[in-house]
Amino acid sequence: MPTFAELGYWKVGGPCQRFEVVEDAARLRALIRGEGSVFVIGNGSNLLVSDDGLAGTTVRLAGALRAVDVVDEAGDSVELRVGAGLLNAVLLNRYLGKLAGLAPLVGVPGTMGGAVAMNAGTALGEIGDVVLRVEGTDASGDAVTVQRADLPMAYREGGLPDGFIVTTAVLGLSRVGAADEVVRAQAHLERRKATQPLALPSCGSVFRNPPPDAAGKPRAAGQLIDSVGLKGWRCGGAQISEKHANFIVNCGGASATDVMTCIHKAWSTVRDATGVRLTPEVRVVGDWDKKLWPLGGDPG
Ligand SMILES: Cc1cc2nc3c(=O)[nH]c(=O)nc-3n(C[C@H](O)[C@H](O)[C@H](O)COP(=O)(O)OP(=O)(O)OC[C@H]3O[C@@H](n4cnc5c(N)ncnc54)[C@H](O)[C@@H]3O)c2cc1C
Repeated sequence: MPTFAELGYWKVGGPCQRFEVVEDAARLRALIRGEGSVFVIGNGSNLLVSDDGLAGTTVRLAGALRAVDVVDEAGDSVELRVGAGLLNAVLLNRYLGKLAGLAPLVGVPGTMGGAVAMNAGTALGEIGDVVLRVEGTDASGDAVTVQRADLPMAYREGGLPDGFIVTTAVLGLSRVGAADEVVRAQAHLERRKATQPLALPSCGSVFRNPPPDAAGKPRAAGQLIDSVGLKGWRCGGAQISEKHANFIVNCGGASATDVMTCIHKAWSTVRDATGVRLTPEVRVVGDWDKKLWPLGGDPG
């Protein structure tokens, strides 16, 4: 069975107990009905699984669940039906510059399912801005369609019902403004290259930015971690990036525990120094030493 170190961006984490590549929604429904529940991994770019790996069945969506089709057009408006297993990079390669609305996915190295689950986004917007509805499988293995109005999407929070697996997302895009979007996307990518440690394995921002302070001043998680002197702090092969303190990078040979120790160090040091309790953006899965996760324990 593959390990999460092989499947995910951080290149850490133990084995899947069982693993299946699922090629259509009918197979997904049958698996959920047979097993009770399954865990879905997208591109593993926002996921930390423990060194013990994960019990049960992990699935990755492929085949028909990576298809993309125009399903409706009216004037300049286009409805695009995107398979949840499709990589954002493939979608952007095909449609950026032709249809406006995809800019929030520029530089986000995940799948459509992961983007919806996380309400992925950047300074250019969030995927929730263009989602019209999602189709998927609920925790009982039944096919369900959820309209955007019924999804409580928020900052890096997809609002999916528990156990819901997205199989396709229908996006409302426009033929107007597509060329301008390319210009903004290119400038955005340049900014990322200058400020983020993209040469080493990571899962992007580890913590969400906290709400503004009492005076209404915006706060960035990376600045808070930097302010407590943790840039460059290391545990084994994992390091709080010297380039961007909200990134934890795998410098080579890191374990999931090394990464989690860095997360815990950043969280507890910021809490002790500033009173701010940062909220992780990365999804944490599997069994952990209770001193490290959930956050709040004492790493000793
Ligand atoms: C270098 C780098 C930069 C990044 N920059 C950004 C950024 O600017 N903005 C941003 O928002 N994120 C960013 N990320 C984080 C990450 O790419 C996004 O959160 C992305 O949307 C995760 O998608 P994924 O397919 O990799 O999901 P995974 O990491 O595989 O999974 C994340 C969660 O989504 C769930 N999930 C995956 N697929 C489905 C599905 N089909 N149905 C239901 N649940 C599902 C998983 O179970 C898991 O809980 C960055 C990551 C990296 C490595």
